[in-house]
Amino acid sequence: MQTKEVWKAVLGELQLQVPKPMFETWLKRTAGVGYDEEVFVVGAPTPFAVEWLERRMYHAIQTIVQKVTKMPLEVRFQVLGGGVNDDEREVWQDQAPEAAGPKPEDYATGSNLNRRYTFDSFVIGASNQFAFNAARAVAESPGEAYNPLFLYSGVGLGKTHLLQAIGHVCASRGRSTRYVTSEQFTNEFITSIGTRTTEDFRRRYRSLEVLLVDDVQFLSGKEQTHESFFHTFNDLHTSGNQVVISSDRPPHGLTRLEDRLRSRFQWGLTADIQIPDLETRMAILASKSEHLGVQVDDSVIELIAKRVRQSVRDLEGSLNRMIAESQLMNVPITVQSAARILDDSAPEDVRQSIDPREILEAVAGHYGLEAESLIARGRTKKVSRARQVAMYMLIYELNMTPTQVGRFLGGRDHSTIIHGAGKINGEINEDMQLRQEVMDIKEDMFA
Ligand code: ADP
Ligand code: MG
Repeated sequence: MQTKEVWKAVLGELQLQVPKPMFETWLKRTAGVGYDEEVFVVGAPTPFAVEWLERRMYHAIQTIVQKVTKMPLEVRFQVLGGGVNDDEREVWQDQAPEAAGPKPEDYATGSNLNRRYTFDSFVIGASNQFAFNAARAVAESPGEAYNPLFLYSGVGLGKTHLLQAIGHVCASRGRSTRYVTSEQFTNEFITSIGTRTTEDFRRRYRSLEVLLVDDVQFLSGKEQTHESFFHTFNDLHTSGNQVVISSDRPPHGLTRLEDRLRSRFQWGLTADIQIPDLETRMAILASKSEHLGVQVDDSVIELIAKRVRQSVRDLEGSLNRMIAESQLMNVPITVQSAARILDDSAPEDVRQSIDPREILEAVAGHYGLEAESLIARGRTKKVSRARQVAMYMLIYELNMTPTQVGRFLGGRDHSTIIHGAGKINGEINEDMQLRQEVMDIKEDMFA
């Protein structure tokens, strides 16, 4: 069956399932790009549409694609660029098979880096200038400028962004680079003990030229993990390789870590990121809307920037909600509609300040499990189920993207997350018990 026919059949089915305005906004201008035995690629006109489809429609689309093709295909979304008309559809379909695979020049594939997080896309202001300069200097001459570089700030202010921007520069220049969250580090280490591959683990880390460790405050409390991290750090540092660390507090505030580790964190340079001022918040919003290819009025930008102050992530979240609503209802974003959305979403901002870790712990607790087991690789029925519920809540309650959730849950692929969260999202309307479970968990958390 040709891609075009498959997609036409899928759209036909979706049209029956999805409310009309939603269909018109999000699905009508999509196209089937191509497929092989494993993956079906769907094209959408903007990055924002891709993200929306991944978040809200992945499961439905995959189910129908599988039904139509009678093949167990994964679905992947990509940006078509420049809108799609019928002529372009043909062109896109001709390019089909390669479009599905990873591009050979993709240095970022093995290094855990998100394309969005580059120095170019980082908006500079007084609140982050120092951290930005330090990160740039380290990216230019890793191992030489400041080692280690220790970045800290409250949530959603750009630590991960800067760490990964360093990673992009270093990796693209052929330096062996690795970005990990401290949870990932912990997990890999624990797994390596379980599988008796600690030697491989050591080698993998100690052969790096640039190691970026995000959210070191989550390094597990276990002594052995600290020991391993300490040795990794020392080996890299003494051989002149770069270590960059981020945390939600300055080194001396990391009371759960050993003294010797804390003091080493202060050997290089420590830089903090503050909450951005109004002007910077506006510049960030303008840059984001431009990136998403959406026209947003200055008065709206100013309104959001005045109302949402605490984190850049919340700024982005508010902007995204407005764009979604305007595209969904097919109306422009006005100051009035923006103000209403900000009013409506005030409670959600409270939710957004919830740490993903808390959700993980609440879900694990509800099922009588350890939070770590949801991050680890275990696949018993109970663990898998709880993990899917966690994926669901992280996406639908915290508004995290599948990629973020994947990274948070020990480096899982975003398609795994979309699948897991989508499964729960699909079942929750029919399975009363599941629904009750999720409600109970929410009650515990948001009460
Ligand atoms: P943290 O790791 O400190 O919690 P992130 O790096 O994840 O924060 O940032 C949250 C979101 O805000 C990301 O999408 C990031 O791209 C964006 N962001 C933060 N600071 C800036 C900035 N100065 N310019 C552009 N985007 C930013
Ligand atoms: Mg972060």
